[in-house]
Amino acid sequence: MVDCIALVVAAGTGERFGGAVPKQYRPVNGEPMARRTVRTLLSHPKVDGVLVVINGQHRSHYDQALGDLPLLPPVTGGASRQESVCRGLEALTGDPPNRVLIHDAARPFVDMDTIDRVVTALDTDPAAIAAIPVTDTLKRETDGCIGETVDRAGLWRAQTPQGFRFAPILEAHRQAAGLALTDDAAVAERAGIRVRLVPGSRSNVKVTTTEDLPEAAGRSSDPAWRVRVGTGYDVHRFAPGDAVILCGVTLPHTARLAGHSDADVGLHAVTDAILGALADGDIGSHFPPTDPQWKGADSAMFLRHAVELVTARGGQIGHVDVTLICERPKIGPHRPAMRQRMAELLGTDPGAVSVKATTTERLGFTGRGEGIAAQAAATLYLP
Ligand code: MG
Repeated sequence: MVDCIALVVAAGTGERFGGAVPKQYRPVNGEPMARRTVRTLLSHPKVDGVLVVINGQHRSHYDQALGDLPLLPPVTGGASRQESVCRGLEALTGDPPNRVLIHDAARPFVDMDTIDRVVTALDTDPAAIAAIPVTDTLKRETDGCIGETVDRAGLWRAQTPQGFRFAPILEAHRQAAGLALTDDAAVAERAGIRVRLVPGSRSNVKVTTTEDLPEAAGRSSDPAWRVRVGTGYDVHRFAPGDAVILCGVTLPHTARLAGHSDADVGLHAVTDAILGALADGDIGSHFPPTDPQWKGADSAMFLRHAVELVTARGGQIGHVDVTLICERPKIGPHRPAMRQRMAELLGTDPGAVSVKATTTERLGFTGRGEGIAAQAAATLYLP
C-alpha cells in the first residue's frame, strides 16, 4: 500500500489573473508555477506520488509544463475547488494511500520543512494543516468604518498543504458534496475530524493576482534561479531601396538598410542582448558575416537561435526592451506589430516586449539619415 500521495489542485480558471496562459502555468522565477509546486512535493522523501487535478481546458498547458515529470495521470476537476479535490480523491480509491496531502498549485513556495511538519503530524493525528498565527490587528467593518476590533488571540491563517488520513477525508468529502467549503480542513471539521494546526511558512504565499507574482518571487529563498541582464547595440547604413525591416516588420521607406543579412538592426540588438545575458558571445560569433549561408537571411532565425540557447540552458526570457534610433521612418505606427512579432519569436507575451524610438535631434549619423541604430536590454531567468 502506498503511504502518502500529494494531490495538487490546479483546476481553477485563473480568471482574476488575466493573460493568455492560465495562472498556474505562468512562470514564477522562470518556471511554470504548477511545475515548481509539484517538483517540491515530488522531491520530498515522504511523498510517494503526486496527482494533479487540472482544468479540462488546460490539458496542453499541463502537458507542456509537467508532461516530463513522473506523476500519476492527471484528473479533470469540477466546478468548484471542493468538487475538484473530491474528484482527485476518488481517482485514488483504486489503490488508496494511507495519507493524502492536499495542496494548491498556486502556493509554489511551499518548503520541505512545512511539508514535513504536516506529514509527520499525521503519525498521531487524523488531520493536520499548515497555518500561521495572525499578527495583523483585525477590524470588523460596519458601513465602511470600524465596527469593532477583533481579538486576534488564537486566530490562524490556513495554508496548504493540508494532510489527512485518506479514508476519513474521502468519506467527509463525499458527505460534503454540494456545499461551499473553502478548504479541506473545513470539510474535515464538518465531519467531526480533529484537525491539528502545525506551523506553515510566511513565504508559502498563495499567488492570486499578478501583483502577487513579484512579491512571491521576491520571497522565495530558493537560490536556484538567477536574473541575468544583457545589452545589445547595432547599426546598419541606408542604401538605395524602398523598405526597411525593423524588429521583424517591413516598413515602406525611401531606402533600405544594407547588411549581410536582412539588416534588421532591432532584432540584431535584441539577439545580442540575449546572448549578452547568457555571456555567450555575440551575433557575429554565432553567425559569422563571412559565411555566405547567412546572406540575406531573415534575422528572425538569429533571434530564434538565441532563444533556443536560453531554453537549452533551462532558462526563460523575462523581458526585452529595444530602442530604435533614427529620424525616419516613423516607428510609432508599427510598434504594436513589432511587439507582436518579437513576442512570437521570443515565446513570450507582448506585455514583456517593449519597443521605443527616438531621434537624435538631427545630430550624428542617425540625425543625418545615414543609417539606423538600435540598442536593447533583455532579462533572463537562468537556473
Ligand atoms: Mg547587424
